[in-house]
Amino acid sequence: MRSLLVRNATLIDGRSAIDVLAEAGRIAAIAPSLPAPDDAQIIDAQGQLLSPPFVDAHFHLDATLSYGLPRVNASGTLLEGIALWGELKPQLTQDAIVERAMQYCDWAVAKGLLAIRSHVDVCDDRLLAVDALLQVKQRVKPYLDLQLVAFPQDGLLRSPTALANLKRALDRGVDVVGGIPHFERTCAEGAESVRILCELAAERGLPVDMHCDESDDPLSRHIETLAFHTQRLGLHGRVTGSHLTSMHSMDNYYVSKLLPLMAEAQVHAVANPLINISLQGRHDSYPKRRGMTRVPELMAAGINVGFGHDCVMDPWYSLGCADMLEVAQMGLHVAQMTSPAQMRACFDAVTVNSARILGLAGYGIAVGNPADFVLLQARDAVEAIRLRAPRLAVVRRGAVIARTPASVATLQLPDRPDTVDWSLQR
Ligand SMILES: [Zn+2]
Repeated sequence: MRSLLVRNATLIDGRSAIDVLAEAGRIAAIAPSLPAPDDAQIIDAQGQLLSPPFVDAHFHLDATLSYGLPRVNASGTLLEGIALWGELKPQLTQDAIVERAMQYCDWAVAKGLLAIRSHVDVCDDRLLAVDALLQVKQRVKPYLDLQLVAFPQDGLLRSPTALANLKRALDRGVDVVGGIPHFERTCAEGAESVRILCELAAERGLPVDMHCDESDDPLSRHIETLAFHTQRLGLHGRVTGSHLTSMHSMDNYYVSKLLPLMAEAQVHAVANPLINISLQGRHDSYPKRRGMTRVPELMAAGINVGFGHDCVMDPWYSLGCADMLEVAQMGLHVAQMTSPAQMRACFDAVTVNSARILGLAGYGIAVGNPADFVLLQARDAVEAIRLRAPRLAVVRRGAVIARTPASVATLQLPDRPDTVDWSLQR
């Protein structure tokens, strides 16, 4: 396999004029002015940012690109989205799910998104979506890490066959135990579902990732139960609470007790900024709640927070294009994370923090790790978010798998430069 030498890159930690050498799929050297091996492919980074690939901690690959099937979501609410998905499910075919998921994976690769944790609905006795996404996982394996979560969309206890189906999905190779406690019939059943699912994960040695408290109800407190069972069963670091939007509306005193419990259990948190700002607060008049969980407060409490895209062109969300920089930008705005350190933390939320949630081995630009990286048309992480920077080159295991031309506008103005430079002069 031909080696690859990236010259004159800036790294995420600020080091500049760095060369990165990939050999046999791994990073062999990182230093200024490395000698080029014979017949190495050379990329001149021209001082641009070489970042680890983007990671999406929360997605629904079985529903993606189904926008408008069989109709669009008129109210824009989570609950109509779930009802709409229920209408679509009986019409799905395995081939159609595979085709849409593969198309989305192409989009992801083009945007430097090389690892996705996708929930897959198990509340269909045929397990069509499970089989479809297991097939997709194998097909994309050479270039994209796809992790699957067994997700009982209609409720583990509310849907009569959900638990049996969820176990069948795990038997077939689905990686993570999912849940949706706020959608069970009562709070008590929600808490019971968390207990059952955490015990199942403990028995099978699997991670947990639940849709948890995706609600504007300040009394939706399943995250407390999730942290409790994580602690009780010794699942520290293996459990993720996704969405947690009710935390936005919770009483502040209660949150001051909750955050240390989550930190103690080492529960990860996932916010889905594009979807949370779109779906939550729909029952409010004015003022309208933003609905996203308390990202800076979670981070300050030492809790690992990743951002997910959640949906692209499906019953819940009509936009999106697999761009995790769009996700980071929305998260930054909704959480008002505008200090330099907080903006940088939003970049981490779509890269290293989410990699930790997925448990990706060898993630990051370091000698010995797999040679996976993205060359961005930006000088640093904040500029990448500001510009939603083009992915000049996407590299997987030392091979270039996607390229996008640099974004350049031509001006035709008297006495002005010919082109626009989006970066600051420095
Ligand atoms: Zn979701």
